[in-house]
Amino acid sequence: MTPKIARFLAEQRPATPCLVLDVDRVAENFRALRAALPLARIYYAVKANPAPPILARLVGLGSRFDAAGIEEVEACLAAGAAPEAISFGNTIKKATAIARAHRAGVTLFAFDSAEELEKLARHAPGAKVYCRIVVENAGADWPLSGKFGTTVERAHALMLQAGALGLDPYGLSFHVGSQQTEPASYEAAIGRVAMLFTDLREAGVNLRMVNLGGGFPVRYREEVPGIDTFGHAIMAAMTRHFGNALPEMIVEPGRYVVGDAGVVSAEVVLVSRRDPADPVRWVYLDIGRFGGLAETEGEAIRYRITTPHDGGPTGPVAVAGPTCDGADVMYQRSNYRLPTALACGDRVELQATGAYVSTYASQRFNGFAPLAEHYI
Ligand SMILES: *Cc1c(COP(=O)(O)O)cnc(C)c1O
Repeated sequence: MTPKIARFLAEQRPATPCLVLDVDRVAENFRALRAALPLARIYYAVKANPAPPILARLVGLGSRFDAAGIEEVEACLAAGAAPEAISFGNTIKKATAIARAHRAGVTLFAFDSAEELEKLARHAPGAKVYCRIVVENAGADWPLSGKFGTTVERAHALMLQAGALGLDPYGLSFHVGSQQTEPASYEAAIGRVAMLFTDLREAGVNLRMVNLGGGFPVRYREEVPGIDTFGHAIMAAMTRHFGNALPEMIVEPGRYVVGDAGVVSAEVVLVSRRDPADPVRWVYLDIGRFGGLAETEGEAIRYRITTPHDGGPTGPVAVAGPTCDGADVMYQRSNYRLPTALACGDRVELQATGAYVSTYASQRFNGFAPLAEHYI
């Protein structure tokens, strides 16, 4: 937690649950990534946290934006982004959304199927398009390869078709999976993309761009490699595979830019035991799976929880949310331990919750209001 957030929580004591996010930390993360990958253009993945103060700060820093839907495109424009600085990166778009983005001046679109390519040709004629290929997502805590991306062979055919449809076959993209802790996964993906560049050049299509996606990790409970480690691994692989003919490089970080800039302040609603003989206490917070902690699904993202009793003796716990829903359990298998002194009414913090929390909050499930947000 940044000193600014600690001061805000101590002085304001905002009602819980709430997300407090330090926008200066967002700027620091953006600069660190730019220093680690100076040759890459940074397209912030808006879906990680679309709050207007974040978008405005990133516009000021010269960021570009990866939008998942037309509403995100419009939020970026409203924050002052130029339409040429926006990539419509979702491979699944309504025709009306494509047309609206195209009319607004967006020129760069993703696809991974022939059917989407035809929609782009019809509703965004002449646009620059890039094809997403599927790559190994091992090493990622939040994989994406089960839903997105096509094979290298299909991508080859689709890029030829893009030109025939009057689109500009601009580049290729991949995503190594979110919270990816293995720098080597980018190297393997770059190798696949480079081969396809060569094959397509021989077929008469000159691609100009590689979109390396996002995935850069945040430190939750465990240490992760620093952003410079990823920068070195990526540049080494790009140079090895492309030599002096480096294409335009794009990265689309979401989690890395905003994750550690935010803290959720929550209250302990109940500490109890399901059975008096059970050593495991159940800690119920006033935020859970439906209040924004959706990435605890499968205990995939394991947030660090801090309490007023840290440093004292601890015991094993299960951590759950406040709703009348059996699925509203965050951690049961991940060996969480919390202080034995923890009690109902204590305020606790879930650290590094700036990404993929605020927008995952449900609307009034069990009557609970959506997560309150403070951008400072
Ligand atoms: C979600 C997403 C990202 C951001 O991924 P992170 O792991 O948060 O960096 C980038 N690109 C695309 C296409 C995405 O869908």
